Formats: sequence, structure tokens, C-alpha cells
Amino acid sequence: MCYHNSIATRDCLAKRGIQVNPTCPCCFQADESVIHLLRDCPFSSACWQNLGSQYLGPHFFTQDLQSWLEDNCRKRSFSSILSVPWNTIFAFGIWTIWLYRNKVVFQNYAPTTPIHSEITHRAVEYFFCAQNAPLKIPRLERLVRWRRPYRSWFKLNTDGSAIGNPGTVGGGGILRDDSGIWVKGFARNIGTTTSFLAELWALRDGLIVSRPPNHCFRNRFGC
Ligand SMILES: [Zn+2]
Repeated sequence: MCYHNSIATRDCLAKRGIQVNPTCPCCFQADESVIHLLRDCPFSSACWQNLGSQYLGPHFFTQDLQSWLEDNCRKRSFSSILSVPWNTIFAFGIWTIWLYRNKVVFQNYAPTTPIHSEITHRAVEYFFCAQNAPLKIPRLERLVRWRRPYRSWFKLNTDGSAIGNPGTVGGGGILRDDSGIWVKGFARNIGTTTSFLAELWALRDGLIVSRPPNHCFRNRFGC
């Protein structure tokens, strides 16, 4: 994204013809280009220094945007912050600076608040959560079978299927009594829609097919 200068900084917006003052909203000293926002703004450069000047390297503040991003995203050397790799801290650094810049613009935050401790907290939390995440989600196997309904009840099972989503869909179902005896069944071509709607159409068809004759209602309620 940055490689295409597509982050909506003020400088980028002005170059696209949008009527906006291109000056940096944090320092008001230069146009807000992507590299200014993320690195060269006094607010951002102080943040990087606070994160650990020993990890910045001699060209940190002179590289072009693409080289700067690539070099720091590849740098796996462990920082002094709980041995979290520098590229993790760097990624959270540019993300947090962008978030904070938006708070300055849209929520009137003061652009002087130090955020390096927030960056380290985010990076440390991510690093240790990702490190300890299980590689595989344990699978719980459960046998599924048809269960008969309560006595004198009926059970309707329906299903919809689709070739493509959206695509050609069909649906069908079966109505059984409390002994599992087939009572009614149906299936039809529904047309072209999504798999989710195919399920709903099949359920609708099933409810219509299962609707008892009027005299059943009368008998049930003793009328
Ligand atoms: Zn600035």
C-alpha cells in the first residue's frame, strides 16, 4: 500500500486534487507525506528514538520509503523489549503512529503524547500470543444421527444445495412421524440464488408441505 503512496495522508489527498491543506497536522512544519508521517515528523522520530535508537541503524532516517519499510520489516534481531523481534515492534510502530495521527485529526488528540509504550505493549502482546497459539485447533468428533421426535409429533428435515454461490440451487426435505416412518417428501429446483437462501427456500417449502389440513387444527384444540 505504501509503495503506491495510497495512504490517505494530506499530501497524498492534495496530489489527487482533493481540496485539503497538505501540511502535517501534528507538527505543521512540512507537508504530510507518508514518510513524513511515519518517520520524519518530530513526533514520529521521537517515538522511534524512544523505542530503541540502537536498533535503528545508520540509515534509518535517510532511506527512501520503500527501502525503509523493507529493511525494518526484515530485521529479526531481538530488541531489548522482552526479546521481541525488531520487525514486530516496527510493524506495530507504523500502525500505531497512523492510528494516533487519525486521533489527532479526527478526535483532537494532542500531538505531543508519547506513544512508544503503547507500541511496545501492542507488540509484546501480539508476539507472545502468536508464539503460544496452538498450531492446530483440536477437533472434537461427534456422532450425528437422526433422532425421533416426541410421541405424536412429526419431524421435518430440510436441506438446500448450490452449485456455485450464488449459483444454481435446489432444495428438498422429508417429514417423518415419531417412529421414523416417512410421511411426506419433496424436492425441487429453486433457481439461481445463494446457498444460504437455498436453505431458507427449502425450509419454507417444508413448512408448506407439512401444514396439516384444517381439521387437524380443530382436533388438536378440541374444537
Ligand atoms: Zn509532522
